[in-house]
Amino acid sequence: MKVLVVGNGGREHALAWKLLQSKQIEQVACVPGNGGTASMERCHNLPLAVDDFEGISRYALENGITLVIIGPEVPLAEGITDYLQDKGLMVFGPVRAGAQIEASKAWAKALMQEAGIPTARAAVFTQAVAAKSYVKAQGTPIVVKADGLAAGKGVIVAETLKQAEIAIDSIFQGQFGSAGNFVVIEECLIGQEVSVLALTDGLTIRALLPAQDHKRIGEGDTGDNTGGMGAYAPAPIATSELMARVQTEVLEKAIAALKSKGIDYRGVLYAGLMIAPNGDFKVLEFNCRFGDPETQVILPLLATPLEDLLLACVQQRLGELPPIAWQEGACATVVAASGGYPGAYEKGKVITGISEAEAAGATVFHAGTKLNQQQQLVTDGGRVLNVTGVGKNFEQAIAQAYTGIKAIQFEGIYYRGDIGYRVVNKE
Ligand code: AMP
Repeated sequence: MKVLVVGNGGREHALAWKLLQSKQIEQVACVPGNGGTASMERCHNLPLAVDDFEGISRYALENGITLVIIGPEVPLAEGITDYLQDKGLMVFGPVRAGAQIEASKAWAKALMQEAGIPTARAAVFTQAVAAKSYVKAQGTPIVVKADGLAAGKGVIVAETLKQAEIAIDSIFQGQFGSAGNFVVIEECLIGQEVSVLALTDGLTIRALLPAQDHKRIGEGDTGDNTGGMGAYAPAPIATSELMARVQTEVLEKAIAALKSKGIDYRGVLYAGLMIAPNGDFKVLEFNCRFGDPETQVILPLLATPLEDLLLACVQQRLGELPPIAWQEGACATVVAASGGYPGAYEKGKVITGISEAEAAGATVFHAGTKLNQQQQLVTDGGRVLNVTGVGKNFEQAIAQAYTGIKAIQFEGIYYRGDIGYRVVNKE
């Protein structure tokens, strides 16, 4: 079986890596891929853009691709699945109508309210004056969100009225382009965030292991928000009781609501949850694709062949499969970032030490890397590598990830030293 993976992050490297563990997988093509996907056997990169639907479809049809897996949200929101399905291809990832669950926070909020899914109280605005008077009436802290896709930057947790007003103005003035045509203002929730990624064929929905990310750049969860600086799974805060509630109160309700709107949603439904100190939870957001870096800590523990699950979703027979099987133990990943990220940073720094990290037992998923003209591995983004460890427990997994990352060098390398601080001393 030949598979094509769309995307170029750590998530896509992890997907390709997991697929290649199976003898059923003859070849994986990545569009456009990164330095990691370029370096694996039976895997190659294609120099196509993720929005080149025609080029992707032509390659897939001419090369006997059985399954196309879409990594990022942007092509899903632009209808890549609809396009490729029309050409007769099997695609893992929801159709455009389903991707609205991530691409419009107002649409997702309305769906949650209609379906009775627990979520933060919110209101949607098209004008700054009304938005500001609502904020004044509600008080702070309060959360101001651009409606559309904003690469994770469209959410401002405002501590003061002034901050909220500035956020409202900058969104309406076009800071996020058309993503800011609507502003969602939401009650500020406190607690711990957990990511529950689930696989669905539109009828059945099954959760993967819960994961926790570390979104802030600085140790102790300080400083600016990032795409994620490290993660681990399975998150102990998401107990089996909590996961059972998430299944019925969130995942099944969401799939039923999508179905009632005539949307045949097949792919990942990712619920970002806030767990309050009293154990209650609310949905912060839905995403329509695998999370990054959560995928990099979930897939190493997956024992069921990934392609069996993804094909069952696409062919709407997930309910016929046995329960998803997992390896015992824990997984953690630490992100090596370019100095300056999430602000300005330089690219093109030569990376060394990956084979030493792997010899020490770590698995290194590449994110922002590429091979330069001299075939050297160089940095090519803010988040560069995900150095991942698996162990019997969190202590072992985290220690393996850190032993690995310490073997790696590039100019300006930065990583947090406290990934997993919530779980290491609590076992
Ligand atoms: P979202 O894209 O909606 O998940 O928002 C991105 C991040 O903003 C989340 O991961 C949270 O850290 C934060 N956030 C979003 N909504 C809220 C909320 N209602 N209360 C507190 N924090 C929030």
